[in-house]
Amino acid sequence: MHTGVKKRRVLIPEPNSRFIVVSCPDCGNEQISFDRASTVVKCNICGRVLIVPTGGKADIKGKIVRVLS
Ligand SMILES: [Zn+2]
Repeated sequence: MHTGVKKRRVLIPEPNSRFIVVSCPDCGNEQISFDRASTVVKCNICGRVLIVPTGGKADIKGKIVRVLS
């Protein structure tokens, strides 16, 4: 599982970042990720891209089934 690179941005603090459970639309696998992932997150089972980093809030390609706050 990717935990991403811990890189603090000086100008943009990230107070609202959360862990989320994302469901893969292809195989239904659910896995925990970070809604501001700094790297592309792929499904652990089939490899489908689930989260694409955008510089801010990540683009979630899968379905968010739960938010762990
Ligand atoms: Zn999958």
